[in-house]
Amino acid sequence: MRLMIRMLPPVALLLAAAAMGHAADIAVGTAAARPGQKATGVIRVPAGVDAGVEIPVIVIQGAKPGPTLALLAGAHGTEYASIIALEKLARSTDPAALSGALIVVPLLNVASFLQKVPHLNPVDGKNMNRLYPGKADGTQTERALWAVTRQVLDTCDYLIDYHGGDLDENLRRYSYWADTGNGRLDAASRAMVLAFGLDHIIIQRNRPGDPNPSRATTITRQAQNMGKPSIAVEAGHAGTTAAGDVDALVGGTENVMRQLKMLPGTAAPVEHPLWIGRYSVIASDRDGIFYPLAVPEAYVTKGMTIGYVTDFFGEKIWEVTAPVSGVIIYIGAVPSMKKGDNVAYIGEIVAEP
Ligand SMILES: [Zn+2]
Repeated sequence: MRLMIRMLPPVALLLAAAAMGHAADIAVGTAAARPGQKATGVIRVPAGVDAGVEIPVIVIQGAKPGPTLALLAGAHGTEYASIIALEKLARSTDPAALSGALIVVPLLNVASFLQKVPHLNPVDGKNMNRLYPGKADGTQTERALWAVTRQVLDTCDYLIDYHGGDLDENLRRYSYWADTGNGRLDAASRAMVLAFGLDHIIIQRNRPGDPNPSRATTITRQAQNMGKPSIAVEAGHAGTTAAGDVDALVGGTENVMRQLKMLPGTAAPVEHPLWIGRYSVIASDRDGIFYPLAVPEAYVTKGMTIGYVTDFFGEKIWEVTAPVSGVIIYIGAVPSMKKGDNVAYIGEIVAEP
C-alpha cells in the first residue's frame, strides 16, 4: 500500500488524501473527528439581537462504519442528572470499540446552567425545547436551535433527548415514544425506547394533523419531521445527580447503541413496560405554599387529594385533587407555588400500542 502511494504523482496523492479526509471526517461546530477519533469543540452561535453563545459538543467517530446517533441534554440547564450522564458517557466511550459515530451535546442551555435558572434560557426568557427548527435571525434560543437543527439534526441518523425533574420537580424515570403514523419511523423509535429500558413510557401522539395546542416543536418532534427516529428520556429530580439516575441514563444509552449495532452485544428490551397514553397537567390556581401528599410512581384515583396549598399564614386555600385515575409522573418538589405553575402530571395507563 505504501509503495503504491509513493508511485502516485504528488498532485494525485494530495487530491486522494483530501478526498479521503473529507469523506472520513464528521464535523459538528469546531469538533471534527476522523475514524477512531474523539474531538471536542463548540457550536458557535454568533451574537445577533442579543449575546452569542458557544455550546459544547463532542464528536466520537468509531473505527468502524455505522449510524450516527446524536445525544443532547441540558435544554433545561438545571436538569443535572441528564447533563452529568452525557459528560460521563462521552468520556467513557472508546472510539476503537464503536461502529458509527456519536454527536454528544451535553449542555445546550449554558446560561440556565451557569445562572441556576430552571426551565428557560435566562438570556431571552424562552424554553430551549419548544421552538425548533429555530430561526437564524431570532433571539439567542432561536439562533441556538437553528444551529442545532442545521449542524446536529442534519448530520445524525438517530436522536436521544435527555431531561429530568428540574430544580422544582420530583419525578420518576420515564421515556417518551411518539406515534407519528410513519410505520418505519415508529418501529425504529419503539425498538430504541424498549432497548433504553425505562419501564414507564409515555406515548406522544404526533401524527400530522393532530392538534398541537401549544404549537411547540420539541427536538424529538423536529427530528421526526426530518424522518429521523428519536426518543426522549427523563431521570433525576430537584437538582440531584444520584448514581441510580445517572447510571440508568448511561446504561440505557449503551443499550440503544447495542440495538443499533454501534456496540457489540445485545440489548434485552424492557419487559412489560407501563404505557401511558395520556397525561393530565394540574396547574395551580393560587399563589402560596405547596405541601405534596403523594410521591412519583404512586397510583391515585380520580378525586384523591395529592397535596394542598396554604397562604403565607398557613391557612389551607386549595386542596389539589387528581382529575383522573392514574400514576403520578411528576409532582412539585418545593414549597414555592405560583399561580399557573405546574403542580403535577398524572398519567393514564393504556394497553400496549
Ligand atoms: Zn427538560
